[in-house]
Amino acid sequence: MTQEVSLVPHMSDDNRILVFRRDFAPPIKEDALQVDAYAIITERYVVLCDTLLCPADMEFVTNELAPALMERQLLVINSHSDWDHTWGNGYFVGHGEPPIIAQALCPQNLFSDTSRETLAYFQGHYGTFKNVELIPPTLTFEQSLTIYGGDLTLELFSAPGHEPDQIAIWIPELRLLLAFDAAEYPIPTLHEATGFPAMLATLESFLDLNPARVLCSHGGTTAPSQIEHNLTYLRTIEQRVQALLTTHPALTQEALLAAALHAYPFKEVLATLAPLYQDNTGFYREAHATNVRCIVQTLMFQALNEKE
Ligand SMILES: [Zn+2]
Repeated sequence: MTQEVSLVPHMSDDNRILVFRRDFAPPIKEDALQVDAYAIITERYVVLCDTLLCPADMEFVTNELAPALMERQLLVINSHSDWDHTWGNGYFVGHGEPPIIAQALCPQNLFSDTSRETLAYFQGHYGTFKNVELIPPTLTFEQSLTIYGGDLTLELFSAPGHEPDQIAIWIPELRLLLAFDAAEYPIPTLHEATGFPAMLATLESFLDLNPARVLCSHGGTTAPSQIEHNLTYLRTIEQRVQALLTTHPALTQEALLAAALHAYPFKEVLATLAPLYQDNTGFYREAHATNVRCIVQTLMFQALNEKE
C-alpha cells in the first residue's frame, strides 16, 4: 500500500526540491507518525534524502521521479539511522543499487539492539513493515561531504544532537537548510544526555548559515525561526534546572527532574513556543520529559565536577 505517501507542493518554492510526506496512522495512536523525505533534482543527480518507512514507499517515490531519473544518476542519503528515515533502503537492493550516503556512525547505529527491537516491534504489529530489512549505507563520511550537482551544490555536514549520526544539508544557491531531525516542530528531541551540548552547537551553527528556508523531517514547517525556537526551548530548560540546582543543591536526580517538569511544564512549552500545535499522540509530551531528563543529567554531572 503506497497511498500514504504524497507530494507536498507548498513546502518548496523551487521545483527542483520535492517534498514527499509519509503518514502512518495505526490503531495504536502512540505509534502514529508523519515524516518527510526530499528529492533534489540537480542537473547531474537526483538526490533522494531519506527512505521513509518501507520499500513500498520508495517504489512510490522513485515512480514519481521516473522522468528525472531517465537522464540522471540516483544518489540516496540517510539523514540518520532512525527507523523513519532508513527503513525504505531495502527497495534499492535489486533496483539499481544506488550509493547510499550517511554519516560514519550510521551503519553501527542502524544495527544496534534498540534498532533491531524497534523493527521486531513494528513487524509484530503492522503489515506495513513486513518487507523491511535493515540495509546499511554504502558510503560514509565523518564531518562533511559535498555533492556538486551542476546547478545546485549539496553540502552535507555532521549535525549531532538528536542522534550522534545526524546530518544536515546546506544548499547555498537557495539558502536552503535541510535540518531533518536536527531541528523540529514543536520541540527538538534528545535521546541521550550527551546529545544536549551537541544539539546546542548544531543549532548555533544553523543560525550562522542564516538560511532563507529550513525544512525539518517532522512538523511541516519551513520557517527559519524554528531554529531559534528550538534554542530558546533548550536554554529555558537549562536555566530553570540551573536555578533549581542553586536553590535546592541536595535534590536527588529524580526529585530534580520532577521539580524541573513542574517549573517548565509541557503546557507552558506549547503555549509559548507552538500555541497552534495539537499533541494528539502524546509523543511530544513524552519527548519533553526525556529532554528535561537529559539536561538534568548533564547539569548535575557538571555541578558534581565543579564541586570536586
Ligand atoms: Zn525522525
